[in-house]
Amino acid sequence: MSTTQTTRPVAVVTGGARGIGLAIAKWFLAHDYRVALLDIGMSTLTQTEAELHNPERVLALACDVSKPDQVQASIDAVAKKFGRIDALVNNAGVAVFKPIGETTFEEFRHVLGTNLDGAFLCSQACVPYMKKAGGGAIVNIASISGLRASTLRVAYGTSKAALLHLTKQQAVELGTVGIRSNAVAPGPVDTEMAKLVHSVAIRSDYYDTIPMNRYGTPEEIANAVGFLCSPAAAFINGQCLAVDGGFDASGVGIP
Ligand code: NAD
Repeated sequence: MSTTQTTRPVAVVTGGARGIGLAIAKWFLAHDYRVALLDIGMSTLTQTEAELHNPERVLALACDVSKPDQVQASIDAVAKKFGRIDALVNNAGVAVFKPIGETTFEEFRHVLGTNLDGAFLCSQACVPYMKKAGGGAIVNIASISGLRASTLRVAYGTSKAALLHLTKQQAVELGTVGIRSNAVAPGPVDTEMAKLVHSVAIRSDYYDTIPMNRYGTPEEIANAVGFLCSPAAAFINGQCLAVDGGFDASGVGIP
């Protein structure tokens, strides 16, 4: 392995097999990082790894981020292969859009387990390696649904609001050792998740409520994440950056 290879920074992206996570992984690769993709969706992950076609700089690992043992084993494997961890993006997420009366306890726990427990576990596992590297950056992918309450989001909105507070807790505690924690709150973004939970009718309602009159792209979210991990954001810690075309600022209710 060359000197350049061993000194290249390393980013871990959860839920990196597709959608926003994949765009984030591509941002890191384009900016000279080595990247570990952790995802529960094995077939998509294998396909993505083959498409990225870069075994020296890409490591794809099957991991359910809600399972402590799997997370610890995966993060240890990343450190073993690459020798360091500099950035972590807690992007893996699931959504259930149902009213409180129809959301089962299992659905509630599943959403919290992935969106919140997953971020806690991955952060906890990465911190010792970041300390060893002399610092690091954590970015939690939240949502406008974590900033504003709306119908159908008792599980999803609660998980993302809690994730925003986890971001602040981490910022306060880990800022002292040079690890910055921030969040990105996307508005609606064109991905499989959006297709799953936004019916055609809801999509047109969204367009009306977003000042820029469109969904965001995964690449637009990735650019914000990349910025927060970069030296340009060296004094930004504990913040949430909404990337939503003005959706939150408009104050219009979430459809
Ligand atoms: P997506 O469904 O396309 O991708 C999510 C990825 O996470 C998938 O590859 C999936 O396999 C993986 N994943 C799910 N559960 C996992 C688990 N337990 N362990 C490991 N991996 C797991 O979704 P997306 O739209 O790309 O969303 C990415 C993130 O952005 C999520 O946290 C989501 O809540 C957030 N977000 C999305 C939107 C949107 O409109 N798409 C808006 C706001 C926030």
